[in-house]
Amino acid sequence: MKTLFNRVFDGSDEMFAKAEEEVNKIVAEVGRDAPLTLPSTAYFCACIYAYIGKKVTTTGELQDALADVKAMMLREPRTNSIFQSGVGTAIAAEMIEACKYVKTQTPYEGTHYHGHFTDAEVRELGVPLVTGDIPGFVVMIGPAPSTEEAVETIKGYQSRGIFVFLIGGIIEQAVEAGLSMSFPVRVVPVGEEIWSVGHVISLVVRAAMIFGAIQPGDVEGFHKYTFDRINAFVNAYKPVNDITVACGAGAIKLGFPVITNDHDDMWAVPKSLIIYDNTKDWIDTSIEARGIKLKITKIDIPVSFSSAFEGEIIRKGDMQVEIDGSRKDCFELVTTKDASEVEDHKIVVEGPEIDEIPVGSKISMSYTVEVAGKNMQPDFEPVFERKIHSFLNCVEGLMHTGQRDMIRVRISKADFEAGFKFRHIGEVLYAKIKSEFDTVVDKCQVRIVVGDEPNAALRKHANEVFDKRDERLKSMTDESVPVFYSCIMCQAFSPSHVCIVTPERLGLCGAVSWLDAKATNELNPNGPCQPIFKEGCTDERLGRYDSVNAAIADATHGAVENVTLYSLLEDPMTSCGCFECICGIEPMSMGVIVVNREFKGMTPVGMTFGELASCTGGGVQTPGYMGHGRHFISSKKFISAEGGLERIVWMPKELKDDVADRLNKTAKEMYGIDNFTDMIADETITTDGEELLNWLTEKGHPVLGLEPLM
Ligand code: SF4
Ligand code: ZN
Repeated sequence: MKTLFNRVFDGSDEMFAKAEEEVNKIVAEVGRDAPLTLPSTAYFCACIYAYIGKKVTTTGELQDALADVKAMMLREPRTNSIFQSGVGTAIAAEMIEACKYVKTQTPYEGTHYHGHFTDAEVRELGVPLVTGDIPGFVVMIGPAPSTEEAVETIKGYQSRGIFVFLIGGIIEQAVEAGLSMSFPVRVVPVGEEIWSVGHVISLVVRAAMIFGAIQPGDVEGFHKYTFDRINAFVNAYKPVNDITVACGAGAIKLGFPVITNDHDDMWAVPKSLIIYDNTKDWIDTSIEARGIKLKITKIDIPVSFSSAFEGEIIRKGDMQVEIDGSRKDCFELVTTKDASEVEDHKIVVEGPEIDEIPVGSKISMSYTVEVAGKNMQPDFEPVFERKIHSFLNCVEGLMHTGQRDMIRVRISKADFEAGFKFRHIGEVLYAKIKSEFDTVVDKCQVRIVVGDEPNAALRKHANEVFDKRDERLKSMTDESVPVFYSCIMCQAFSPSHVCIVTPERLGLCGAVSWLDAKATNELNPNGPCQPIFKEGCTDERLGRYDSVNAAIADATHGAVENVTLYSLLEDPMTSCGCFECICGIEPMSMGVIVVNREFKGMTPVGMTFGELASCTGGGVQTPGYMGHGRHFISSKKFISAEGGLERIVWMPKELKDDVADRLNKTAKEMYGIDNFTDMIADETITTDGEELLNWLTEKGHPVLGLEPLM
């Protein structure tokens, strides 16, 4: 019988030996100078970078790091040593995986396995983590006792919003059962072999660097961050070999409990290593062990409801019916009524139900949510309405895109077979509006209308409502309101970050407008959004206010003391990690480029989105780089201190097309320029700084007439 200590040491020796073998093999093959890059990351081999502080960029540097890892693995019978060895094991795992990326950037192509996570994927987790839509992460290792149980447990986690990483035999089981797996649906088959766990740890340490601004080499900082802020845990099915035990020790050091049903030479450690035979109860056991609180709304529908399904895609061939706002009269609307006009939980469907409609039809539908409440305000209507997208998307087998009268909803055949009816759309809207906005909604009813004729008339009325709202929104400027709002929602992961949200500058995640912040504050006065009265304006051009600075200093506990609302260079607003876009200076033209998170290519400043993004974040102020929301691009206040929109010289095409209408309108209003976006370059024009300058000169871009930035 071996002690648990020895199992960890043997396991980490085994992992290290494998790493040494693989690294030496690749060096023998390609030499020490071969470049080593993992795809779309600015953090090198992130585990090595985080724990050892070294930037590995070549096979030779990877080979040199072997000695650093070896030094962590001290075979001493002390608790600290076993944890150290565990962390060393995780780094060795990353090294083994990194070797696969030397000769190709896509070693897992054509397999079920995901392998390396990009920085963009890490950043995508920001908002759902903050809102609690992803309450935690599970790493499931090894085959479950049966395929049925594997699927049941995975889906059990998924339906609770828990992000699932699969390693080893359980992937085959999931594939065999035809389970749909991908990053957007939050079930990721990471890799077949245990060392693929290196990718998961890489994601975790990057979250700490991106959101928490933990510095490379600050080992204790990483441990504290993961322990306090990343709700992860491990489920390891028996038989658990030594190498997995060593990985488990690493997980425990990071603060992630391990749950297993293997008794062989295994000792339970309270709260950390839990031996539990009934694998069918692991979900509850695990969630309790990590102290995870779940956000649950009971909804009376025949299919699952979880934020994990927001990323689901329903293909044409899989759809039963489609509510198609691009060809038919469709809309969604939230409207306030008098209490006497609303019967709580009344859901009516006027027109045919789903089973009376031929399969594959494109139909016209509207759903109107009528709410009443003493504290309800019409300003909340658009706030609730924009949440409908995420509410309906959480239904398994249903896909929702768009908003207002440009919606498209696909209901899958699988949902139809499970008994899903149009009425259930009403059930979802009712349950979510009532639970999320309970402080202002006393009563809620939903009216669903199906059919071309009635909706043509109804849509006209809805459009009048939308137009009126837009008018009101347009009249709201930073000058016209007495308060701004702070948002500290992201402090769960970026402890020194605060967004200041104004009518003309939404939060950098793109999800919190001034109206949203106002509603959040009124719904929950002690919550994450607090009013900041506009007082003590010391510089109008920069947007510098004493009251804003005081609020920032208070909310960051002194970490940040001065921010401006409109400048990129002087005390710019901080960024967490979940910004939709980043802007940065383009030195040749003295303009700025704006890059969105989805863009994977190169930019004229020689950096990708990920590399630009790594220049800021974690609540740190970095003059010259700033994260912001997509909508901010067409704001009159966009870096207005530096000349505003006229500075924009380059954007990825998709982003440019997306914001073109609004941006062109603002540019026309402010500078009298027609079709401004025609003067902004994109990747189809050039990604070279010099070429860009020539092109801008040719186009007569206004930036060339502005004062130099620095
Ligand atoms: Fe985070 Fe800012 Fe968005 Fe609030 S507004 S959720 S702090 S990014
Ligand atoms: Zn954030």
